[in-house]
Amino acid sequence: MKICVYRGTNEVGGNCIELSTKNTRILLDMGMPLSSMDEKRPITDYKVPCPGIYADETPSVDAIFITHNHGDHYGLLPLINPKIPVYMSKMLRDILVTAQPLVTDDFDVSQLNIQEIGANKSVQIGDFTVTARPVDHAPDSYGFEITDGIKTVVYTGDIRFHSGQSWKSKALAKTCKNPDYLIMEGTRMSRAETQEEYPTEDSVYLGIQKIIRGSKKIAFVDASTQSVDRFCSIIKACIASGRNLVISPYAAHLLDIYHNLHKTVPDYKADCIWVYHGVAKPQYPKFKQAGLMDKYIDKKIDVDTILKNPEKYVIFHCPKLYRSLVDTHKLDYDFIYSMWYGYLDRKHTWDKYAEHLIKIHTSGHADIESLKKFVQVMNPTKIIPIHTECKNDFENVFGISTLVLNDNEKVEL
Ligand SMILES: [Zn+2]
Ligand SMILES: [Zn+2]
Repeated sequence: MKICVYRGTNEVGGNCIELSTKNTRILLDMGMPLSSMDEKRPITDYKVPCPGIYADETPSVDAIFITHNHGDHYGLLPLINPKIPVYMSKMLRDILVTAQPLVTDDFDVSQLNIQEIGANKSVQIGDFTVTARPVDHAPDSYGFEITDGIKTVVYTGDIRFHSGQSWKSKALAKTCKNPDYLIMEGTRMSRAETQEEYPTEDSVYLGIQKIIRGSKKIAFVDASTQSVDRFCSIIKACIASGRNLVISPYAAHLLDIYHNLHKTVPDYKADCIWVYHGVAKPQYPKFKQAGLMDKYIDKKIDVDTILKNPEKYVIFHCPKLYRSLVDTHKLDYDFIYSMWYGYLDRKHTWDKYAEHLIKIHTSGHADIESLKKFVQVMNPTKIIPIHTECKNDFENVFGISTLVLNDNEKVEL
């Protein structure tokens, strides 16, 4: 078996990994670099030099496997040849096909040959058997276990061990013991570890609840709608505090996808949830065409209703509504910022609210101590670092022989 990492050996995100034998080539993730999020350059500028995957080539890759719903793992998919099967969870398929095009221009995967793969299910692709292994990170995230009958490789994708789904990541270590290679993410290897104020998803829930319970002001919460754990924490905090939650039609649509696959996730029909229909102009036609405005008509709420008792509401990621309530109606407010703090340095959306920002967030990635325990239980023969800026530290930190690769380097395993 050979490996070639086209991107991700020396950066956080943009993963694109090839495993091959004489007869078979498969790819794990097809990501865009995280740095691309700030730029307006076309997606084609970020192609990796992997032959036989793009729409204008004769396909020579047998299958692609995608771990989860973050662009640094699936962002190149619109360029892929529709003849190549792309395997992913049903959740990811629903998000990419029905939700992502609503908010991203030029993102169209409707022509792709998408195949669903269930948790702990295997598929045979030529010489490889590939098994999807659930991990704690994003909605229905997978790692993959791959074997050609001679060598076994485990790929973590992105992974953490501190939400209500942490049992999945722990199970991966026990289910896939003693692999020949563990391709492991190391996002937080480079970030100086200080005592975190919110080390777990549960502490985030309690932190949000404390703020909205102890305040008489309306609250705005900005978090990723594509983080199902965070969405649930916010809903739980609203229920525990007797507040109503106002969300966008897009967020309602995502919640519906989550709820349809996992009944433990609240329904958008829950009593405390309302939908604000004031969508930004460029998006409105897409939302209308997708039937979202009609679907959530019974849940519609307007500004006048909110203004009657603003202290009873939490507004989740509705920038247009924030502006109306603050600029036009001069409301005082709490603003809970619940995403990666690094975005605050890059973008200026939140500058306007800077004096009100209360930061409550926990990472989507494992800390070093959790990774050490994970490695100890799994006991791989070798580690291959990925999704990290610190590949040369792995051997020292984990005490296991490490294969340090460079992007585009082909190595026999
Ligand atoms: Zn990632
Ligand atoms: Zn991720």
